[in-house]
Amino acid sequence: MPVLRVALDLPLHRFFDYVENSASTAEIGLRVRVPFGRGEKIGVIVDVVDESDWPAAQLKPAIEILRDLSPLPADFFRLCAFASSYYQAAPGEVIMQALPAGLKRLDPPARRQARAIKPTAAAARPCLTAEQAAAIAAIDLSGGFSAHLLYGVTGSGKTEVYLRLIEQVLASGRQVLLLVPEINLTPQLEGRVRARFPEAGVISLHSELAEAARERNWRAAFAGQASIVLGTRLAIFVPLPRLGLIVVDEEHDASFKQQDGMRYSARDVAVFRAHQLGIPVLLGSATPALESWANAQGGRYRLLTLKERANPAAVLPAVHIVDTRRLALKEGVGEPLLAAIRERLARGEQSLVFLNRRGYAPVLACPACGWVSRCTRCAANMVLHLADRRLRCHHCGCEHRIPRSCPTCGNQDIHPFGRGTQRLEGWLQEQFPEARILRVDRDAVKSRKQWEAVLERIYGGAADILVGTQMLAKGHDFPKLTLVGVLGADAALFAADWRAPERLFSQLMQVAGRAGRAELKGEVVVQTQYPDHPLFTALAAHDYRGFAAQQLAEREQAGFPPYTFQAVLRAEAPDMAAAIAFLQQAAALPAVAGHPKVMIYDPVPMKLARLANLERGQLLVESASRPALQAFLPDWREAIEGLKAPARLRWHIEVDPLEF
Ligand code: ADP
Ligand code: ZN
Ligand code: ZN
Repeated sequence: MPVLRVALDLPLHRFFDYVENSASTAEIGLRVRVPFGRGEKIGVIVDVVDESDWPAAQLKPAIEILRDLSPLPADFFRLCAFASSYYQAAPGEVIMQALPAGLKRLDPPARRQARAIKPTAAAARPCLTAEQAAAIAAIDLSGGFSAHLLYGVTGSGKTEVYLRLIEQVLASGRQVLLLVPEINLTPQLEGRVRARFPEAGVISLHSELAEAARERNWRAAFAGQASIVLGTRLAIFVPLPRLGLIVVDEEHDASFKQQDGMRYSARDVAVFRAHQLGIPVLLGSATPALESWANAQGGRYRLLTLKERANPAAVLPAVHIVDTRRLALKEGVGEPLLAAIRERLARGEQSLVFLNRRGYAPVLACPACGWVSRCTRCAANMVLHLADRRLRCHHCGCEHRIPRSCPTCGNQDIHPFGRGTQRLEGWLQEQFPEARILRVDRDAVKSRKQWEAVLERIYGGAADILVGTQMLAKGHDFPKLTLVGVLGADAALFAADWRAPERLFSQLMQVAGRAGRAELKGEVVVQTQYPDHPLFTALAAHDYRGFAAQQLAEREQAGFPPYTFQAVLRAEAPDMAAAIAFLQQAAALPAVAGHPKVMIYDPVPMKLARLANLERGQLLVESASRPALQAFLPDWREAIEGLKAPARLRWHIEVDPLEF
């Protein structure tokens, strides 16, 4: 009797067999309802075979093959197989995570008819600059696989390059997948795409869509009705029958990396997917990830450069590095920045003060006994939020009322230490009582609606001073904004995390790029105690290339990625000793000795050693050879699966980790 081989959403590196009377290979790719344990599950048929490796008596019959969706295609399974083997993720989990929740439900709710897309008038296209035209000409859309890095300064018109390429791909009857970091933060891009291609059936896919909408959009993409799919990282797995081009905008953004469940980089999967399909992929950024930059330097990606802003009137802002060592600071702000804000107020222009720390103050402390507001569940401080009178842990989300006196010694005089956006907002309001101040961070702006309202206030000129976190750094074009002040950047200069300078530089370049995008010239004021630091020198010169070359040289010398390849094994347990002991066992497995090109480090606690009452340890493995690491990982993973772990210990492997 034919046997269905079924992918189920389980953390096991195998598929599951069920018998089915009259199944044929035509059923491969369909969903199926099967008995599992005491209940049922929805899975996907990945193969139909004549005989199972399991004794026939143990096999259960499938319950029902679902035929409301056409079969998932072979290239979808190839992509999932790649992700599963590259990231050491269970194949069933990879396949099932690619489907919207509505397609995995045993009792799907009644479906509504898809709404017709309202046609609007197509927006005008500008004449291309010479650089844009050259970049577009360099990409052969029908020449098979090619990977391109579009490196263009902020405002150089990268989006216009995407739009022109999309236009060509649509004209040839194919689909485009456009990946963006966070859809909430990019309503402008979505608007531009929809306005340019009113008839193309643009759909979006991201985690904030309601279940029904996500399923509807996913179906439209899979059925080929939508020609443009605009999505966040999860969209990289959507099966698309006519895919002709993948674009990854702001490719350096950390949100392309999934940090839980199946840990993958959507940017890297995008390149692999394009390779599998024999189509071009375009990665775009003003500050490419150093991995991507190294790939472009090494010739694996073709480098396309936009050096000039598209609007000739919009020159890059002047960057002033202000040495705070000899400066009297009030609430962390020096006179040069205050004077610059005053000037903007007088001229009716906007200022942005960038402080990448939300809340009122990072900690509440008692000077008498040394008590600080620690989170009881994490190895972290509770952040003071005066706006809603809470102490809140930014890692696990738990919160408390603000104590009136020190919980240990009773001292009534407890103080907030350090400063966050709320405190800065309040203080600036005292300095500039007339100014309309708008705070933009994840506390003030939680939903897409709120975000759109904020953008409207900024565009409409209803705010004079913006106080914001990195939320404001991304891709917006604020015509009246001519001043960006940067506070609190020094912390990242000497962080233990060797990727911190890369992140800081890219954040500062992005936020600096907000200033002076239209006819008004922009200015950036960076306060620092290290004015001669090469990072700030490069920033002042708008010199991404120089910064990247210097960072890459350091990494090569230190033997860090992209010159080595890494993976980590992490273990979480109620106590650290158990986690470390487990990691030590894993380090001592014979599989390790069998792969001499792989280097294994000692188990250590993670940087955030305790999160939500779990102690977390990790073990780094590294190799100068990607194939050697890839050959080692499955052997090792299988051996770890054979270890006897304590009952409450959980572990996972992450390949190409960004955080430790
Ligand atoms: P980026 O994505 O590189 O930051 P955008 O594509 O958002 O840049 O373009 C910046 C600004 O320049 C936008 O206002 C855009 O409309 C405008 N722009 C882009 N290309 C051109 C062009 N060829 N001619 C005139 N303006 C352009
Ligand atoms: Zn005290
Ligand atoms: Zn916590």
